[in-house]
Amino acid sequence: MSATIIDGKAFAARIRGEVAQHVTRLKDEHSITPGLAVVLVGEDPASEVYVAAKHKQTVEVGMASFERRLPADVSEEALFALIDELNADPNVHGILCQFPVPDQLDERRVVARIDPAKDVDGLSVVNAGLLASGEKGLVSCTPLGCLMLLRDQVGNMSGKEAVVIGRSNLFGKPMGQLLLQENCTVTIAHSRTQDLAAVCRRADILVAAVGRAEMVKSDWVKPGATVIDVGITRIPHPEKPGKSKLLGDVDFASAAEVAGAITPVPGGVGPMTIACLLANTLTACCRANGFDEPEGLTA
Ligand code: NAP
Repeated sequence: MSATIIDGKAFAARIRGEVAQHVTRLKDEHSITPGLAVVLVGEDPASEVYVAAKHKQTVEVGMASFERRLPADVSEEALFALIDELNADPNVHGILCQFPVPDQLDERRVVARIDPAKDVDGLSVVNAGLLASGEKGLVSCTPLGCLMLLRDQVGNMSGKEAVVIGRSNLFGKPMGQLLLQENCTVTIAHSRTQDLAAVCRRADILVAAVGRAEMVKSDWVKPGATVIDVGITRIPHPEKPGKSKLLGDVDFASAAEVAGAITPVPGGVGPMTIACLLANTLTACCRANGFDEPEGLTA
């Protein structure tokens, strides 16, 4: 194995440590505690796990965590009333609604109801537009996490060929915009891209966000490239009955022989997402109070 393994778990811990320091300063110097509100509709078991992890890490960095639960059959009107209440609450600087939501609710309308200045998931049309225009907004957490890993690993990305596989609003499009801001030459590939392997082989920076296990083979990787694997596919564990195993979009073992640096799955991009949610909440709090943004924690 020749590639440097990018340790997202350690990096995320570092980011959370930086966030915690800023939180302490805000409390000590200004008596302000950044607050994150998470809205959970229904009792989806996977969502319960994510919400619990977010709560734990929010409290660990010293922020206030407001968890608001609504029944699975909640009306749009009642959900919007709660979001309006959180939008108006000065102690709440970040709001996210855990997705998926039940069928009677429309995710786009839910996101649109959240004040863009508190949309710490960065999913609103307003924040997507600000990113596309090169203006300051809140950036979707997973692409922001990948950007932080890349800045740390690659340093100056100017002029590099970057290929992002996947064009979702959640990940691929904002990732492409962020790489463009770093002055990369960006290609966003997707299911209709012709000769994807050849497109990927051009990449100095290859970011895969598809959700197809081990799709990216070693001969798709340019020697020395930095490979960021966002994809997550859960399969039954081959050796541990009843347990599951996570696979990325990249055939890790073979790609690591060719790449210069690569993120593993798990332990690569995954831990960065909540760390960046906390970073975004801190940023939103600083902006709301007219303070300087935390350096190194924004796009
Ligand atoms: P998504 O909305 O399903 O988008 C997948 C993208 O992959 C689409 O743009 C699709 O192209 C493209 N695609 C599908 N098959 C392809 C193929 N054979 N060749 C090339 N492109 C193909 O998914 P997403 O929300 O962006 O997430 C992508 C993956 O990242 C998932 O595995 C998800 O679990 C993971 N993820 C992880 C984190 C994390 O925290 N680690 C966060 C977010 C997402 P079309 O647009 O043409 O259909």
